[in-house]
Amino acid sequence: MTGAPDWAGGLYDGKVRLPVGHLSRITPEFQALLAHELTHALIRAKAGTSCPRWLHEGLAQHYQGGDLGEAVASVVDASGETSLADPARFYALSLARVEFLIDRHGTTRIMQLLEALKTHGDYAAALDDALGLEPARFDHDFVAWLKRQKR
Ligand SMILES: [Zn+2]
Repeated sequence: MTGAPDWAGGLYDGKVRLPVGHLSRITPEFQALLAHELTHALIRAKAGTSCPRWLHEGLAQHYQGGDLGEAVASVVDASGETSLADPARFYALSLARVEFLIDRHGTTRIMQLLEALKTHGDYAAALDDALGLEPARFDHDFVAWLKRQKR
């Protein structure tokens, strides 16, 4: 999943699009895909077009049942360092950021963040409104949390 263009096979472009032609039964993989793409639709409805891509993909992976341990293992190297700007690890970093948000602030606050994104149309203003944080503070706290998740 790390670095994948999107969760394999599905798409949300204003409508949820899923490959069902070959489907002979509802598999766990299809349920995960459905949860992923429906989460994108929910975010679009709540946040409008102002949701950062990492928050979109992180939440979609969370509700699809993404594995935090796997994500952490791929974004924190052996020396405990992490790069927040590595495009090859975008999906893993997005999931880890969302798990941090949920762990630290809870899912109700995330809904408030999505609504604030719609209201303000700006990530920094929404983060301040919903969580009382600046983006740099969020990143700092996230990296500290991420290092503690590494086992
Ligand atoms: Zn996605």
